[in-house]
Amino acid sequence: LSVPLSICLAQIGMQQFARVFLRLRTVWPVGNAISIAVIAFYVVLGVASFWLPYRIATPLAAASVFLSISWILTVTLVAFRRGDRSALLFLLAWGMFLLGTGMFTALAFGLLPKSFLTVYGVQIGSALEMLLLSIALSYRYAVLRNENERIVRRAKLQLESQVLERTSELRTALEQLETAHARLREASRHDPLTGLYNRAWFRERFESLLEAARTQGQPLSLLMIDLDHFKVINDRHGHLVGDDCLRRCAHVIDGILRTHGALVARYGGEEFIAALPGIDIFHARELAEEICTRLREGPIRTRGPGVLVTASIGVHAVDTGVGHEGAATDMALQVVDNALYAAKSGGRDQVRVARG
Ligand code: GH3
Ligand code: MG
Ligand code: MG
Repeated sequence: LSVPLSICLAQIGMQQFARVFLRLRTVWPVGNAISIAVIAFYVVLGVASFWLPYRIATPLAAASVFLSISWILTVTLVAFRRGDRSALLFLLAWGMFLLGTGMFTALAFGLLPKSFLTVYGVQIGSALEMLLLSIALSYRYAVLRNENERIVRRAKLQLESQVLERTSELRTALEQLETAHARLREASRHDPLTGLYNRAWFRERFESLLEAARTQGQPLSLLMIDLDHFKVINDRHGHLVGDDCLRRCAHVIDGILRTHGALVARYGGEEFIAALPGIDIFHARELAEEICTRLREGPIRTRGPGVLVTASIGVHAVDTGVGHEGAATDMALQVVDNALYAAKSGGRDQVRVARG
């Protein structure tokens, strides 16, 4: 029983090994199906050999070996033609085994003389076959490993370039956001009509100027400017001409004060405020007079007729020693407002310095 059974087991092993080694499933699906059929045949024959008589089972198994080996050679050649270079080593390995077996058979039939090579032909062939198959396997392993490394390297490169791309996109978006944010912040500090700073930003900056003046022992003057009878100008010429007047007056005030390092803002409708760090009350008064004179001197050019605009100005030398910034600011604004009120009640188009 062991003769047909071991033939079947050997053929099952060989077919399965060839099928897996040559990757028939992907390289040649039809060949793969045939190999599975050959394996199934040997399974059936192996099981049947338990019952079949020896003289039927053994010749049948032995004869089928030729077909089985031929099939292995066929699939090997097909795999080689389809680009599997290790198939050549596989073929050589089987060639060694067949040569060894062939020499032993020739000895058995008296075709070759008895020698070490013919007597041990099967063993030598098998040993060489195993050796070559080991080389084929390690070659296959190396190919797979290289392929694997190549895939990993490519994926890494791809990932790196994607990360770089995303990072640069993110950086651009962040830069745009920062620019937009800066533009928005700057816009939020300005009055849209005159382009001067607005009241909120003035107050914030004034508190720091106050703190600086306090620590450095420097004077800090405050000017509050209110255009005279502006309502009448609006009523007479319309609001658009009124807007032009506001813009031009703002330009004149800013032009005179900015060169002295002043912080100029639009305080309300037709009111402006200016903080003059490092400028004493006498100098501040001179600058206020200069503004009044400049406005008084000529009509302001507008989209309509030239308009004569005058201003009343309150001036105040801020007491930098009073309380904390918030209270000192409120007090300074109140005092300069009083001075402005005095200029108004004194007949307008004039400068008044706060007392006390
Ligand atoms: P006074 O000499 O007492 O300051 O008189 P006035 O008319 O200037 O003062 P009042 O507070 O009565 O009127 C201020 C006017 O300023 C009324 C308002 O229509 C005008 N005004 C305020 N803001 C704007 C503005 O943005 N554009 C224009 N065209 N007019 C403005
Ligand atoms: Mg006013
Ligand atoms: Mg006014």
